[in-house]
Amino acid sequence: MTTQQYYSLTPETVITYVHQRPQLAGIFHPGESLEAVEVGDGNLNLVFKVWARADHKRTVVIKQALPYVRLVGDSWPLPTDRARIEAAALEIHARFVPQHTPKVYDFDPVMFAITMQHLDEHLIMRKGLIQGIKYPLFARHIGLFLARTLANTSDLVLDYKTKKEEVARFINPELCKITEDLVFTEPYRQVERNLFHKELEPQVLALQADEALRAEVAQMKEKFMTQAQCLVHGDLHTGSIMVNQTETYAIDPEFAFYGPMAFDIGAVIANLLLSYASHEVRTPDPDKRADFRQYLTASIIELWQVFSREFQPVWDQVDPINMPKAYQDGYMLRLLQDTAGMAACKMMRRVIGLAGVEDIRGIQDVHERAIAGSLALNIARALIMNRGQVSSIDHIVELATAARPTYPWTA
Ligand code: ADP
Ligand code: MG
Repeated sequence: MTTQQYYSLTPETVITYVHQRPQLAGIFHPGESLEAVEVGDGNLNLVFKVWARADHKRTVVIKQALPYVRLVGDSWPLPTDRARIEAAALEIHARFVPQHTPKVYDFDPVMFAITMQHLDEHLIMRKGLIQGIKYPLFARHIGLFLARTLANTSDLVLDYKTKKEEVARFINPELCKITEDLVFTEPYRQVERNLFHKELEPQVLALQADEALRAEVAQMKEKFMTQAQCLVHGDLHTGSIMVNQTETYAIDPEFAFYGPMAFDIGAVIANLLLSYASHEVRTPDPDKRADFRQYLTASIIELWQVFSREFQPVWDQVDPINMPKAYQDGYMLRLLQDTAGMAACKMMRRVIGLAGVEDIRGIQDVHERAIAGSLALNIARALIMNRGQVSSIDHIVELATAARPTYPWTA
């Protein structure tokens, strides 16, 4: 029996649902006793963990798109088509980096539900970074993930026709609009939805009054909206990465679309730098703080090094007449500079805009929170205002580590 009509799942109905899907018959036995819980830490969707009572190893995650933003309710509608996009993106990721992509067992286009591998030995990376846990293989893994998924979906690899068909298949206007608003528009003007606290207000107002900065942000927004360079994940922050000491997975590509590579690379780097800023107050011991920050900045450098190394085989196969070495070098340099700009926008929005990150917004003491937020904004400012001069990944790290919080104000 297949489902004929959409309804939103509950921990009770999800069990019946699982038994109705022939695609899942290889995992769960007909009629066997199952248990389910809702995970409930996502912003947009319903996510359930389901497992066999007899054998907890047989377990899946079911993610269902609701027709509205879960965090806000039905006053903010959002197309369920994003589940199709997510399933299609996961399929492409699995083609290029299966070791970093949760296996998809089933996509149900009626229920807009994806049943996938339950990553039950992995933690959301953000939670680990908040605790000061290092993941030594993360930079290598995500550097590879980025190189493979971005290069292989670009015009450097795809033939002319497939590329255009893929651009069309991944048209994702409503989710892109969320990014356009929350990342590139609202943080830079006075908008009710912005969520910074009043301690930071002088710095936020100064930033919003800075026309040169807004001009840079506008350039990044233009690139986001017009550069259909490759299939980007679209939301690759540390809350979309699940890790342990040996494995790394990228989840949640519902924002995927054909956009600029720098948006994904910048998102990862931004979140490492948000963690860097948060440990200004989260880790009071100076030696421990320096040590963890050293891990974060070394990860940023390694991530880019692995990315460019893994990208090289693609350059080795392009036509050297029309894409000579000078073009290739220029491409990678522009990518690095755009990465700095995108990272900056992603950082500023997490401090000023509606959707924050636990690294900073989770800091209990409001003064400490303001110190971390102030530092994050100053790192972002340094990156976006100097991105045109950036010539190496070390240079990006130098700009970030030279920044200091300006809160509390001494003037
Ligand atoms: P949303 O798009 O609504 O934010 P996510 O895809 O980020 O939803 O999932 C929400 C949460 O569910 C994640 O933060 C994670 O804790 C959990 N989760 C999602 N997918 C998996 C998975 N494959 N294995 C284990 N946990 C998962
Ligand atoms: Mg999501």
